[in-house]
Amino acid sequence: MAFQSNALCFGSDLPGQGIPSHVETTPEGLALTFSDQHSQPPVPFDQLSLEAGGFDHDQLVVKWTQGGASRTLYIKDAAVIAAFRHAAPPELLAHFDRAAASVRQVRTTRRTVLLAVVGLLVTLGLGAWFGSDALATWAVSLIPPEWEKQIGESAMKDVLAQQEVVREGPVVDAVKEMTTRLTEQIANSPYQFTVTVVKSPVVNAFALPGGSVVVFTGLVKEAKSPEEVAGVLGHEINHVLQRHGMERIVKTLGVMAIAAIVFGDQQGLIGLAKQLGVEIITLKYNRDQETEADLTGLRLLHKAKVDPAGMIAFFERLAQSEKETQRVELLSTHPMSARRAGQLTAELKALPKFLPEPFAFDWEKVQASIKSSDAQPKL
Ligand SMILES: [Zn+2]
Repeated sequence: MAFQSNALCFGSDLPGQGIPSHVETTPEGLALTFSDQHSQPPVPFDQLSLEAGGFDHDQLVVKWTQGGASRTLYIKDAAVIAAFRHAAPPELLAHFDRAAASVRQVRTTRRTVLLAVVGLLVTLGLGAWFGSDALATWAVSLIPPEWEKQIGESAMKDVLAQQEVVREGPVVDAVKEMTTRLTEQIANSPYQFTVTVVKSPVVNAFALPGGSVVVFTGLVKEAKSPEEVAGVLGHEINHVLQRHGMERIVKTLGVMAIAAIVFGDQQGLIGLAKQLGVEIITLKYNRDQETEADLTGLRLLHKAKVDPAGMIAFFERLAQSEKETQRVELLSTHPMSARRAGQLTAELKALPKFLPEPFAFDWEKVQASIKSSDAQPKL
């Protein structure tokens, strides 16, 4: 019969790598045959000591002394271990079972503690990540600008479907001139900015990911100077450049959006964003994003030689309207505060002095065109 190894035997008188062995349990003890078919003298149970061993502590380790040499036998075969348990005297097994149980217990306790610690860290970590927006920010940093453009354009279609777009005239020309003047100063922008004027009395402007900007005629009508409108545009353009809108969207959509981004599923992300519908323009920016858009917006105005005093004056007026709870749409997504106007004033002082250059359009004509179109009866 061919030799079948079911154990490995080590000994002080044996080769270092051990000898593959065939072991059988008899009523008296262990009968051992080495791979060279050399039968060993049987070892009685009362000469054996047992331990649990091996990488997973699932091996039976049997030790004894034979002719002055120490022997250790590793048995992994479950059938052999079962046969051994069946034949061995209970005193011998009791010691082994105690040892195995304590190993199991230590391991279980360690595993429980480890799981609890990992669970806590994951919960705290994810909580902190979600709380501080860092997870959304990281995910957004992986989104190619092309995806943002598609998400923005798709949302824009939905938004404009419910609005009256002003296609030409003094307001459109003025807003385009302001946008060009500002965006010309942005170096290496991955975005192509487009601006659309919507006829609506609400005082608002917003920007979608990828560079679609919308200005409501109510904002132009409410502004006391073109520099005030340009200030809002500078702020909105920077929300796009810093990808704040995209962060709002990803944070709102949650884990599914992050998974779509990580796995490079462009259509999946666009589909998810589409579910937000026109709600996309009502997502609020957080305080840090507002501050960032304010300061970078101010620097952009400075670079474009647009008087930043307009931006500050407008924000101060909005902060006042908010106190008076006047309904200004711009405030619902960009809450104003006196603190923000104060920060802008301090930032402006730190920038080098410059001589502002006025816009080419006729501001009075622009405002008059809104009033006259308001007066037209609706058909
Ligand atoms: Zn804002």
